Amino acid sequence: MKIVILDGYTENPGDLSWEGLEALGELTVYDRTPPAEIVPRIGDAEIVLTNKTPITEEILAQCPAVRYIGVLATGYNVVDVNAAKARGIPVCNIPTYGTAAVAQFAFAQLLEICHHVAAHSETVKAGDWSRCPDFCYWNYPLIELAGKTMGIIGFGRIGRSVAKIAAAFGMRVLAYDRYQNEEGAALAEYVELDALLAESDVVSLHCPLFPETEGMINETSIGKMKDGVILLNTSRGGLIVEADLAKALQSGKVYAAACDVVSTEPIRPDNPLLPLENCLITPHIAWAPKESRKRLMDIAVENVRAFLAGTPVNAVNL
Ligand code: NAD
Repeated sequence: MKIVILDGYTENPGDLSWEGLEALGELTVYDRTPPAEIVPRIGDAEIVLTNKTPITEEILAQCPAVRYIGVLATGYNVVDVNAAKARGIPVCNIPTYGTAAVAQFAFAQLLEICHHVAAHSETVKAGDWSRCPDFCYWNYPLIELAGKTMGIIGFGRIGRSVAKIAAAFGMRVLAYDRYQNEEGAALAEYVELDALLAESDVVSLHCPLFPETEGMINETSIGKMKDGVILLNTSRGGLIVEADLAKALQSGKVYAAACDVVSTEPIRPDNPLLPLENCLITPHIAWAPKESRKRLMDIAVENVRAFLAGTPVNAVNL
C-alpha cells in the first residue's frame, strides 16, 4: 500500500514523527508539492494525504490508483469532494484536533485588539514609561469585553468553544448557523444573520468556506454591522471580500479586524488588508500548537487505519 503525503511540512516541521503512517504502508512524505508535481508524485499511490495542496477532478482523472484521500486539516475545500465521491473515493478530514487551539486563538486576536500588550511592552522597553510624568499611559483605547455582545457565525465545534470563552469574559453571545441544536442553544442565543450583524460588538467567523459562504462578509453585510465593530476571522479568508473590509477599516466602520486566514495563502503582497494598521494578520497559525498537531497526526493515522479495515471514519463525502 503506497501512501503519499503531498505537503507534510507544516504538520510536522520536524518536531513530530510519521511512524504511525509508516507502519501502515510504504510512505513518501513531501514537504510541499507545486501544482505541476501533484500528478507525478501521487503516481500509483492508493492513499493520498494533503493539507493545502489542491486535489481537483482533473488530478483524480490522471491518478486512477487513488482509493483514499486524507485531509490533514478540518477545512477540506482543497479537495473536490464530489469528484472523489463520483469515483468512490472517501475524503476524510480531521474534525476536532484543533478546536481548543483555534478558539483560544480567536481570543488571542481579540485581547490583542483590546489591550495591545506587545505594542505597549515595546514602548516601555523603548523608554517611554521611564520618561512618563504619570504612573501609567496607554497609546490605544483599552476595551473591556464584559457586557459586550459576541456574534458567532457558524456555531459548530470551534464556534461553540469560542462561546464558552466569551461567556467566561461576561459577554452576551449570539449565534447564527444553518442548523440549530440543543447544545448550541445552551451556550448562545440563536438569531438570524441580520440580527447578529446588527447587535454584535465583535463578530467572529467560524463557518466553513462553501460556495454559499464565499464573500459573505462584504460591503452589504458590513453595512448591517454596528459602527466600530471588531471582526475576527480564524476560519477561511474567502469568507471575506477583502477589498470591502479594507474600505470599512479605513473609514472606521470596522474598528479593527484580525485575520488568521486570507483569500490567497501565502498572502499576496498586494492584499488590500496588508497595509492597514487596524488589521492584524497572522500566517494561518491558529491550528498549529504542537499539542494540536500531535492530535491531528494521531487522528490522520486512525483515519487511514479505519479505511484499510473497511470502515472509514470522518468521511465528509459519503
Ligand atoms: P464544524 O463543522 O464543527 O462547524 C462549522 C459550522 O458552520 C457548522 O455548525 C455548520 O452548520 C455551520 N455552517 C455551515 N454552513 C453555514 C452557513 N452557510 N451559514 C452559517 N453556518 C454554516 O467546524 P469547526 O471545527 O468549528 O471549524 C470551523 C472552520 O474553522 C473550518 O471549516 C475551517 O475552515 C476553520 N479552521 C481554521 C483553522 C485555522 O488554523 N485558522 C483551524 C481549524 C479550522
